[in-house]
Amino acid sequence: MRVGIGHDTHRLEPDRPLWIGGIEIPADCGAVGHSDADVLLHAVTDALLGAGGLGDIGRWFPDSDPRFAGADSSRFVVTVREELDQRGWKVVNLDVIVFAEAPRLAPFERTIRERLAELLQTEIARINFKAKTGEGVGPIGRGEAISATAAVLIDTDSRVEAP
Ligand SMILES: [Zn+2]
Repeated sequence: MRVGIGHDTHRLEPDRPLWIGGIEIPADCGAVGHSDADVLLHAVTDALLGAGGLGDIGRWFPDSDPRFAGADSSRFVVTVREELDQRGWKVVNLDVIVFAEAPRLAPFERTIRERLAELLQTEIARINFKAKTGEGVGPIGRGEAISATAAVLIDTDSRVEAP
């Protein structure tokens, strides 16, 4: 078994789309980034890379690379999941936290978990989602930024039992 963690932060600006976990969330502000700036998928990508001992997202998908300008971050997750597949690893479970002052993300929990399960080719029961605010303080609390943290456990294919 191996464990990986990932963390990511993006600046928020008005009148931009807000992508979280591969879902476009209606919001006044969206995240700024080279790709679609999906903070959650970036944290998940880094957690998967960490578990596999494969480095980090900046090495695989550099934000200086024009190929990734405006990219759908789903492809980062799928690429890394395929790399893990090839090495005989399967996801046991994924736990994530998104830190955002607004909007409220609880209504999107199920949709985001379904999308993550689809990208990881696993069951929704293996995906846990949590949302937190910044309690009105710091860059998160002031609505200047959004962050996400992800932890993933992977195991060799044959040992991953039904959830
Ligand atoms: Zn990012």
